[in-house]
Amino acid sequence: MLLDQLLVTPRFATLGGAFFAQVQPTALDKVELLALSPSGLQLLGITNNTASQEQLRQLCAGTWQWESYPPLAMVYAGHQFGGYSPRLGDGRGLLVAEVQTPDQTIIELHLKGAGLTPFSRMGDGRAVLRSSIREFLVSEYMQAIGVPTTQVLALARSSTKVWREQVETAASLLRLAPSHIRFGHFEYFYYSRQFDEHAALTEYVLKHHYPECLHKPQPALAFLEQVIERTAILIAYWQAFGFCHGVMNTDNMSILGLTFDYGPFAFLDDYQANYICNKSDSTGRYAFNQQPEIGLWNLTALAETFTQQIAIEELKTALASYWNIFQQSYQSLMCQRLGMHNDAQAAAIISDLLKQMQQNQIDYNNLFRRLSEEPLALALEGLADDFVDGSAFSRWAAAYTQQVTKLDLDETTRLLAMQAFNPRYSLRNYYLQQVIEAAEKGDNTVFSELHAVCQSPFLSKEEWFKWCMPPPDTEKAQPLSCSS
Ligand code: AMP
Ligand code: MG
Repeated sequence: MLLDQLLVTPRFATLGGAFFAQVQPTALDKVELLALSPSGLQLLGITNNTASQEQLRQLCAGTWQWESYPPLAMVYAGHQFGGYSPRLGDGRGLLVAEVQTPDQTIIELHLKGAGLTPFSRMGDGRAVLRSSIREFLVSEYMQAIGVPTTQVLALARSSTKVWREQVETAASLLRLAPSHIRFGHFEYFYYSRQFDEHAALTEYVLKHHYPECLHKPQPALAFLEQVIERTAILIAYWQAFGFCHGVMNTDNMSILGLTFDYGPFAFLDDYQANYICNKSDSTGRYAFNQQPEIGLWNLTALAETFTQQIAIEELKTALASYWNIFQQSYQSLMCQRLGMHNDAQAAAIISDLLKQMQQNQIDYNNLFRRLSEEPLALALEGLADDFVDGSAFSRWAAAYTQQVTKLDLDETTRLLAMQAFNPRYSLRNYYLQQVIEAAEKGDNTVFSELHAVCQSPFLSKEEWFKWCMPPPDTEKAQPLSCSS
């Protein structure tokens, strides 16, 4: 099956000219496909053959489009680091198609790095190879470990050069999501006092993405309640899997509760609650342990745009559900990671563990994996060496053992379940950097290997052993620049 056969009549364009600008992509030079995503191809039901590869290559190059789907750049706004930017929009990405999958869902294709648009402001409309590789691999990884995320279809590099802090290679990425609507879309129409358009956007989102809310007494409120729930669950996943987004501006928040717009993200190496992955985040607004609070802040910003049609008290009540959903989801995920029973005792066991991990600089991902690979007593004995305060660790280990016992599972079953939930490999910036450095020299072998790891992060493979190792101390937790 080729993409052509999956195209549907444009949906987002039906909203009208206030919502987007029609823009032709600016072609990139000498484009070669670096990778296709097997899960993306499968989602859409596309056959991986020469014809579809050529079509995807040309889409990435900006030289392919369908007459029935004029590419468009969406307009939106957003709170960036707490301050309101009244007009952002797709400055370097275009919606290039909407397609129907074999299971009848409609998915949007967004080409990132497509050239200048009316929303490019000071930017060049391009995406560099470095950040495109990062977004491609992390999308695959998040999908494979079960964290809600946008997906990818293709990654391409070109011979076009762009300037960041130095000369870099331009690349492009085809991103997949049922919708690219952000919290910032609603903010744009609310703060520019385009209330009819705000209502039209709400109606559109209800019809296409939250049809179950249409039957509720207040559909818009029901929609907000859903976004609050999905966002709380999403951030619980981030916290449980040690993911730091880095730029949780409201324009990077998906109304579908997906991880969206990957930039200077990081997975924790050593557990460090207040870790800041974004070099530009001088105050730590988006530090790892701030993410749950910021999730609510962003939802409040979204809710504010509904104050014309929903009573403030009702909005406050909806927002008040956030912490409970977050806490419950987080605790449940952490109990799964630890292979222990979830009851009132679990919270203290989790927080005591994190406190001790922080004090002893313990690698976050690998602790769960170590607990997944050996019988309990043996695993705890091995771990004890890494904790300086032996009696504090023994106290924790005793409480944890009791909590594990409450599950009443035989050891093999419990360990297999933990191995299927705790990725063997974390997607560390240290390794992404190695992939990028090789790719920039034209060597894609390291990329291909890490891509395979990202698709099967639970699999134990002898030759992948190196990808489990924490980085050398000097390379841990390096913050990243926002420029991409
Ligand atoms: P981001 O930091 O990637 O979430 O982007 C914030 C805003 O800047 C969005 O409106 C982007 O479209 C825009 N933007 C980021 N990089 C570029 C670029 N190289 N050219 C044009 N616009 C950009
Ligand atoms: Mg963004």
